[in-house]
Formats: sequence, C-alpha cells, structure tokens
Amino acid sequence: MSQPPNDGKATQQQTKAHNDGLVLSIIYEAEEISRAAIARRTGLSRTSVGEAVAELLGRGLVEEVGRGRSRGGKPPILLRVNVDARHLIGIDLSGEELRGAVYDLRGEMRHTVSLPRDGRRGAQALELTYVLLDRLVTAAEAPLLGLGIGTPGLIDVQRGSQVHWAVNLDWLDIPLRDLLERRYRLPVHVVNDSQAAAMGEYFFGSGHHSGNLVVIKSEEGLGAGIVLEGRLLHGDHFGAGEIGHLVFGDDGRVCRCGNRGCLETIASGAAIVQRSRAAALADADSALRAAAMGDLALDMEAVRRAYVAGEEAVRGVVHDAARGLGLAIATLVGTLNARDIVISGPVTRLGDTFLDAIRQQVHARSLAPLARDTCVEFSSLASDITALGAAAMLLHQELGIWPLRLPRHAD
Ligand SMILES: [Zn+2]
Repeated sequence: MSQPPNDGKATQQQTKAHNDGLVLSIIYEAEEISRAAIARRTGLSRTSVGEAVAELLGRGLVEEVGRGRSRGGKPPILLRVNVDARHLIGIDLSGEELRGAVYDLRGEMRHTVSLPRDGRRGAQALELTYVLLDRLVTAAEAPLLGLGIGTPGLIDVQRGSQVHWAVNLDWLDIPLRDLLERRYRLPVHVVNDSQAAAMGEYFFGSGHHSGNLVVIKSEEGLGAGIVLEGRLLHGDHFGAGEIGHLVFGDDGRVCRCGNRGCLETIASGAAIVQRSRAAALADADSALRAAAMGDLALDMEAVRRAYVAGEEAVRGVVHDAARGLGLAIATLVGTLNARDIVISGPVTRLGDTFLDAIRQQVHARSLAPLARDTCVEFSSLASDITALGAAAMLLHQELGIWPLRLPRHAD
C-alpha cells in the first residue's frame, strides 16, 4: 500500500499526489465538507488544501454543493465526491461463475454480469475473463478509472501483478495485468481474491473502526485477507492469509495442493457440499440421498436445509467445518490480535447456529481476554464482496482514497 512520502526524499509531485489523496479521502468519508474543515482535519495549510481541491474540481472528481452552516461570517461552500465522475469495474474469478460489476465511486452497483465457468481452465478461462470484461466495459456509462481483478492464487504485485499460481484456473505465471492493460488500455490492478474480499469489507463493510481486520473467504477455496494496522498484508511471497492449506489432520483427504488434511478440504464451501454428499450416500435414511445420487441439485442451499432439519450426517460435516474454522481463527487471534474477524462466502448461508459453533471453538482455543474482545461475524456484503474489493483497489491505487480510521490520518 502506498504511504505518505518521507519528508527528505519526497519529490514535489509525490507530496502533491499524497495531499490530493488525503483531501479526497477526507471528502469521501465526510460526504459533505468545507475547505476549512478539511484543513483542520488534515493539518494541511489552507493553501495546500485549496490547491488539492482545485485539482480535484478540475478533474471532476469533486463538486461544490452549496453552502454549509456559518461559524460566524460567510457560510462555507461544501464539497462532495461526484460519484459518477468515474466508474469502477471489479471482477471475481474465484467461483464457479466469473462475476463482475460496474460500480460508481461509492461502490454502488450499476451493472453486473455473471458467466458460468463450466470447468473452463487455462487459456479458456482467460478467454471467458475477456468476455466478462468486454461486456462490463461496454455497459459502463461513465469514464472508467480502471479494472480491479480479484483472482485466486499467489499474485506477485511487485512484478506487474503476475499470477504465479492459481490452481483452480490452471494458471501458472500468467502476466494478467499486462494482458489486460494491453487489451483495454486502462489501469489494471490484480489482487488475490481473499485479499480483495478484505478490501471490500474494509472499505464498504459495517463498522470496522480499528485498523485491523481479517476476512475469511470460504467458497471454492478457502483463504483469508488481512488488513493489519491499516495496510493490506501481502507477505514476502504474496501468500499472506493462505490459511486454506494449513494442515489440520495428516490422515485427511488429499487437497488440490497435493497435501492431505488441509483446512480447505474441511471448511471450504465446496468441501462442505462434497462431504455432505459423501455422508448422504453413506446414510440410507438421509434426506439428501436423492440429491447425492445425482437426481436433484446438491448445493449449499440443500446442505443448509438438511442442517437446519437436524440431519445427523450433515451436522457432523458442518461441525467439522466449524471446528476447523474456529481453530484457524484462534490461531489468527493469537498471532495478530485482530478484533474483527469476518467470514464471507456461501458458508454464511448455514446461519447463526454455524456461526455460534465457530465462536465457541474460538473461545475454547484462545486466550480468554483476547477471545472476549474478538468479534466473529458474517459479512454484511453479499456475494459481490470480492468484486467490490477489487474495485476498491482502484479507489486506493488510482485516487489515493483509503478509509480514514487509520492512525496516520488522525485529526
Ligand atoms: Zn491444500
């Protein structure tokens, strides 16, 4: 993530870009605010604020919206973000469907497209990604700020957002950013899907007021995105948050990574459905048996119904998933002491009983004072959390907007 420039080495241009981003972040968060109030909140001089605002007005990103209340003297002119000055495209390549949307600058969805992947991998998955983006680019009704891509795999953000390894798409060393920049002639930012989900939750989720947040995304795969002290954590080899491949039992199922007993084989949305299917096939009385035999759809919704109905085989599967997630979360709590832990993905459909089971595991396996202050919740953002977070990358990388609850932005 970008930082305020070091005073000694900062070029004038860096300082200016930083000031513009800071002022825009203040306006973004305040909704409507005067130049004087921006100066008070940023500590920047009125001249610097005036220059930044002039720049933002000139680019159309900000607009004047009449006058506020007077503090004595002439009432000040208020500024706000022009949400349609640019639009954002965010896409999510992690699920069985490739999904994406056009958003305004506040993350309001303006247009959405989903395409079933139907098992496409490799070059075919890339072609389908182009189809998805073609449709979204065509549908956009405002100039585009860029393309935000949330993809499974290890993403080398330093070397041009190269996708090192995305096992379910069968992508190895794909220069995704270069390919997309060349095709669309727009800025492109590629980020791991779980890290994108963390960005979505941090920007647009409910009430994360500390600078620390962990978002666990359980869908086809399982991973975590971590915001630590106000920064998205990538790790030395871009694998921060790859908790899906922590091995919890050497005798477990073979994971697609090649190891046995990975958390992903127990607690990903796909694993819960697969294990429920196996459990139903082994149980002659199971209500899911017809679905498991292939006569009806066996998806997370069917698993949810069986779970709520108290079906024994499915309860065991869901209990194992809750135990695995609880153990992983307790490890994260002990390591990071992040207060807000948010779970997203189809597993959230399993409801409060499942959430409570996870919380019990976290409490049982964490230091008591840490567990007491930990908040494990389901995300309030629906299935577009990753696409939304990929779009939020553009707000941050292209405009310097970042939620202001960070210590460095304190008034
Ligand atoms: Zn694995």
